[in-house]
Amino acid sequence: MEAALKGYFGYSTFRPYQREIIQKVLDGRDCLVVMATGSGKSICYQIPPLVTKKTAVVVSPLLSLMQDQVMSLKQKGVKSEYLGSTQTNSSVSNEAEKGTFDVLYMTPEKAISLPSRFWSNLQASGICLLAVDEAHCISEWGHDFRTEYKQLHSLRNLLVGVPFVALTATATERVRQDISTSLVLCSPHVVVGSFDRHNLFYGVKTCNRSMSFISELVKDVSKRSDVGESTIIYCTTIRDTEQVHEALVTSGIKTGIYHGQMGSRAREESHRSFIRDEVLVMVATIAFGMGIDKPDVRCVIHYGCPKSLESYYQESGRCGRDGLPSICWLYYQRSDITKADFYCSEAKNETQRKAIMDSFMAAQKYCLLATCRRRFLLQYFGEEWNIDCGNCDNCTAVKNERDLSKEVFLLLSCIKSCGGRWGLNLPIDVLRGSRAKKIVDNNYDKLQMHGRGKDYSSNWWKALGGLLIAHDYLKETVRDTFRFVSVSPKGVKFLSTADKIDGAPLVFQLTA
Ligand code: ADP
Ligand code: ZN
Repeated sequence: MEAALKGYFGYSTFRPYQREIIQKVLDGRDCLVVMATGSGKSICYQIPPLVTKKTAVVVSPLLSLMQDQVMSLKQKGVKSEYLGSTQTNSSVSNEAEKGTFDVLYMTPEKAISLPSRFWSNLQASGICLLAVDEAHCISEWGHDFRTEYKQLHSLRNLLVGVPFVALTATATERVRQDISTSLVLCSPHVVVGSFDRHNLFYGVKTCNRSMSFISELVKDVSKRSDVGESTIIYCTTIRDTEQVHEALVTSGIKTGIYHGQMGSRAREESHRSFIRDEVLVMVATIAFGMGIDKPDVRCVIHYGCPKSLESYYQESGRCGRDGLPSICWLYYQRSDITKADFYCSEAKNETQRKAIMDSFMAAQKYCLLATCRRRFLLQYFGEEWNIDCGNCDNCTAVKNERDLSKEVFLLLSCIKSCGGRWGLNLPIDVLRGSRAKKIVDNNYDKLQMHGRGKDYSSNWWKALGGLLIAHDYLKETVRDTFRFVSVSPKGVKFLSTADKIDGAPLVFQLTA
């Protein structure tokens, strides 16, 4: 093992878990590996073939990713090839079944369409493992579900006795379970590394008017590109991508663009000029994704709330791969919530719709949070992480906290009295004493709390409402672009104990 690590890869020590996983695979054990991006998962399936002189088959979702890996392995003297679904030339697969290659990559489509003869020949030649990379694609609860991945279990019967290794950088408990069930893993050796990327600073910038968002963005980006540092900006739509790109170019910043509607030549060109530092800023949709192995990206900005924390973690994780301090900003506005419908439109059934909605709501909460963002992220991924990190905007903000129990009480009781049939705006208007028609018609002007919240602006109340959603005092749901806010059980408990919850006053920091 050590000899292969040194001889082919030039490293003298294994990173955490690598040796343990390789040993289990050599013992013939199935493995489920959940480790952060950049932690060195690939070596776990690349070393066994070098030790056993048998082929490792790796199922991977993206052609470009496989091409990169194959090229880099060949340079190291590892015999490697890939089989894509569109390949008509059968010479690679003919060679492959003779056991010619150390590492053989293939797309899931290819893997499930190869004839069983291929597998029996390969097994006769020698196969040491079947790795399923990006294994979260198996689960409808993951953020990147792919139908073909679900069919991979059929390989199980064709490859009796061959250890399966499922690998992913993001998996909640539920997704982990799905992977294990779907691939019929047999009492797998499970490794879950920490998700913490200690060198990344996490922060959210909130804004209401899109134009000032742009000027903030220009400020952020130019600060970095002036000193030669790279930034990736992720937008949720192609339209945003083009707008942000134009704004940056107009302010004199050399900026690349990348999205799915560009031709493949233009995309490659754009990708390349970013990798080579010819442009320091890349504005892109999430089509600019897996396979970007640029170690020194210093900042990832999300322009708009991403569809889930899984994808946020993965996309923001593309900065600071070299371990140096880097920054993840998320630019958020309340109206981002209307994107829920856009994301849900991908759903094929009610289960998927609910899964997408839940994931999106968790991302919303992340944006609205007043406490440590890293703690929230890591707990979301099931880690026991109970300390504040000191390296996120909420941890480093100048503390300006005070007890807002009274205001919280007012807002919650007003929302409750309005019956949970509205968004945040109407109850806030009631608090601020509005006599708009909708309010009078519903007799909300007769409520006890009508006009009791005049001392604060409506934006201040909205910010408080956001915090209460993030901290589960309020529950927000979305239907057909309408959002509804109601008091959650935790909020009800708060109301019934007057001004205390769990015996403590409700202390928040609000700067809006
Ligand atoms: P992942 O697939 O988990 O995102 P990779 O397998 O691409 O991570 O590895 C990330 C980087 O770490 C690569 O550049 C790889 O060569 C390097 N690496 C992996 N294992 C080791 C090791 N034992 N010592 C030093 N560097 C390593
Ligand atoms: Zn923190």
